Amino acid sequence: MSAGSEPFRDALDAAARHATAWLESQPKRHVGPAVSAADLSADFGGPLPDSGMPAAEIINYLAAKAEPGLMAMPSGRFFGWVIGGSLPAALAADWLVSAWDQNTFLRAATPAAAAIEEAAGRWFLDLLGLPEESDVGFVTGATMANFTGLAAVRWRVLADAGWDVDADGLAGAPAIRCLVGQERHDSIDLALRYLGLGRPAAVPTDRQGRIDPAELDRALDRALNGSNGSAPTPLIVCLQAGNLHSGAFDPFLQAITVAKAHKAWVHVDGAFGLWAAAVPEAAALTAGLHLADSWATDAHKTLNVPYDCGIVAVRDTQALRAAMSVNPSYMIRDSGAAADPFQLVPELSRPARGVPVWAAIKSLGRDGVAAQVRRLMERASALADRLSALDGVEVLNDVVYTQVSLAFGDDATTRAVTARIIGDGLVWMSGSRWQGRDVLRISVSDWTTDDGDVGQAVGAVRRALAAVRG
Ligand SMILES: *Cc1c(COP(=O)(O)O)cnc(C)c1O
Repeated sequence: MSAGSEPFRDALDAAARHATAWLESQPKRHVGPAVSAADLSADFGGPLPDSGMPAAEIINYLAAKAEPGLMAMPSGRFFGWVIGGSLPAALAADWLVSAWDQNTFLRAATPAAAAIEEAAGRWFLDLLGLPEESDVGFVTGATMANFTGLAAVRWRVLADAGWDVDADGLAGAPAIRCLVGQERHDSIDLALRYLGLGRPAAVPTDRQGRIDPAELDRALDRALNGSNGSAPTPLIVCLQAGNLHSGAFDPFLQAITVAKAHKAWVHVDGAFGLWAAAVPEAAALTAGLHLADSWATDAHKTLNVPYDCGIVAVRDTQALRAAMSVNPSYMIRDSGAAADPFQLVPELSRPARGVPVWAAIKSLGRDGVAAQVRRLMERASALADRLSALDGVEVLNDVVYTQVSLAFGDDATTRAVTARIIGDGLVWMSGSRWQGRDVLRISVSDWTTDDGDVGQAVGAVRRALAAVRG
């Protein structure tokens, strides 16, 4: 069958129609799903069909049956977790990526996809003020971006200690000490576990969840004390841009200075916080960020690119390419100096995930990216200001970025208010635990969130609190 035949047109037209209807329903719809996965299992399950169904009919069926079970994550009233929506250019580019079906692992085989990703990578470094010599890889999310950056760091610290991890693995290797802030994201632990590095040592953090540089200094001293002094001790420090509860940023300049004084390698998890570096007025939050060795972020969060899209940047290009490359016989390599896409990521076969990033940045420009992030920050601080004026609402964090954590007296009240807000469905906010308390957490990450949405959020909290108090 040729790719030009009608079935594609009918199915794609149907998909575009349903997608547009879904997106246009966002400003008005109940945010939470109306049914559970179990409720839907009969619609999508049943016995395996013996025969097929035309593509366009399937799309119509999918859209109709899935509709009540969808969460309005692309809504401006969705404040749960850091999710983000999709910019029109990024979403449409993502569709093209699927239609193009380019397995983007070799530059020579998929030159358009490779060139677009390389441009997106350079723009990304420029936007965030990261070292221009870094390699940039497009992965599935910040978890894999953390994994990839830390794999490069692992390769480097072991190579510096005279150990070839590719050939000899980890058994018998010099011990690697990993230090993280007490409030790092769990995905750091996951990445270290995937890498065989075990559980990291946690360094105390302050009330906002920022790593304490003096404590880091002491922890690094202790790690070096245990070493024999002949070979360098492999040391890795993971810092964080954007704490999930407070939005706080580790003090990069001090922490990296301390880490470098101990010859440690520094990785930064900036899944949503790294984008603060695009906002000139927020420069204080990310001062010194560029002095790290590797950086992980998500494009599917603050940049508002569709899932799934994470980005990793690594200054030590040799370490990254060594950690991620293989040379099977079927890969006829481009002889140029530029890396092939597969050398920068854990996968071999992969879509050109950087294309929607390119489209997002192209559609906004440098100023537009800054304005988008600035707007998210302004909405968060407006929310915090208006909520803190309400009787019985405690704003627990210094609102420096896009996150607000609230409590309403005791844990039971906070949980009840959270459940009430979610049940009402006008907005969605998530319950969480932070520093020993139940909290209601608000994340502002959708590019469409406007003043009206902020007003609805304030109203939803006020009504829920009044109802719970009776
Ligand atoms: C979301 C997040 C991650 C994980 O990102 P995924 O895209 O879910 O893999 C890591 N760190 C922080 C701080 C996050 O907010």
